[in-house]
Amino acid sequence: MKAEIIAVGTELLLGQIANTNARFVSEQLALVGVGVYFHTVVGDNRGRLLSVLQTARQRSDLVILCGGLGPTEDDLTRETVAEFLGRPLELHPEALRAVEGYFSGLGRDMPENNRRQAMVIQGGNMIPNPRGTAPGQYVEAEGRRYVLLPGPPTEFEPMVRESVIPLVQTWMGGNETIRSRVLRLYGIGESHLAERIADLLAAQSNPTLAPLAAEGEVTLRLTARAASEKEAWERIAPLEAELRRRLGRYIYGVDAETLEVAAGRVLQARGMTVATAESCTGGLLGEMITNVPGSSRYFVGGVISYSNDVKKAVLGVSGEILERLGAVSEPVAIQMAQGVAEHLGADWGIGITGIAGPDGGTETKPVGLVYIAVHHRNADPWVKEFRFRGDRRQVRIRAAKAALFALWR
Ligand code: ATP
Ligand code: MG
Repeated sequence: MKAEIIAVGTELLLGQIANTNARFVSEQLALVGVGVYFHTVVGDNRGRLLSVLQTARQRSDLVILCGGLGPTEDDLTRETVAEFLGRPLELHPEALRAVEGYFSGLGRDMPENNRRQAMVIQGGNMIPNPRGTAPGQYVEAEGRRYVLLPGPPTEFEPMVRESVIPLVQTWMGGNETIRSRVLRLYGIGESHLAERIADLLAAQSNPTLAPLAAEGEVTLRLTARAASEKEAWERIAPLEAELRRRLGRYIYGVDAETLEVAAGRVLQARGMTVATAESCTGGLLGEMITNVPGSSRYFVGGVISYSNDVKKAVLGVSGEILERLGAVSEPVAIQMAQGVAEHLGADWGIGITGIAGPDGGTETKPVGLVYIAVHHRNADPWVKEFRFRGDRRQVRIRAAKAALFALWR
């Protein structure tokens, strides 16, 4: 099955927003084995949308459109696809109930304009949208399928996951299941990883094995096709076991389990609390930790000790050491970690001090130099020097992730 994504919206062409919907649906389709061959972006314009549809008809079996299903005049996807297929729009009772239900859920009457959102192309079916007003729809014509979905990602993404992907699987025959597992690694570079699993990468067919690097982390996606879910997992299991045997110490989580989730899990399992003292990351580590629901169970709080004065006055870092070795040094990281744990009453303290750039680097202390320390009440402090590459943003993210990994480890 060849798929194509058409995103409708002038704001996309103007560069005001990124086409994240195309990225999301393409990824989801790839997971179930559907190839996406084209992404098209077109403005809110009937003529140009018609011409894009004409092209898509010649090259794709599945055309997924997003955006332009709203109630206003410039939302013209529904009308234009109907015109293109030469079919009328019909009021769909179930869709009307859904739109009315959305408004009554908000305690309001449905504006007359929103009736348009309950119109479905003749012969088409509605796709429910529990999070917004505009239901989606799909219609088959000349052996091709057209799927129309609303633009807002908060509506689009769940509709893809909950409705479109299951539909696509039935269109593909329905008797093949695809399952995948993502192994998340930290502390190993992509090329080093590729070397260690070169033979597995070369031999892959079912399951497939796909590495992907992002912001200092690497993920490995294992995808298997089989007649049943059970069989798919049975195919994945031996490959996963082999990867764990070779790379176990770098693997911190699976699927959606991010570093901050994994670190939180470890802290909670040990019944430990943590506090953060951040300099170059400016609170990013605290932000990442508190992104996880329930983090109040193990995160006490943090100090953004950006200046030396705050390092001294709030965390008790030695003025003599700051003077002699500079703020970016091992002992300062250790004292920050210790100071914050003691002052905020946490079992563990993390200290981060470094040079994020672009200015401030010297020959002996270049941009990207970061010290991370973990203080533990009853143990020797752990501290490590890092030399991160990248711009200011990347150095900061990598430093915060390294600190999370230090907690997980
Ligand atoms: P609405 O009922 O909200 O008007 P709609 O189906 O008409 O929905 P649009 O008006 O095209 O959708 O887009 C609504 C919003 O959704 C946009 O302002 C934008 O923030 C977001 N959006 C639209 N298309 C995309 C896309 N391809 N990727 C990411 N976000 C998008
Ligand atoms: Mg709109």
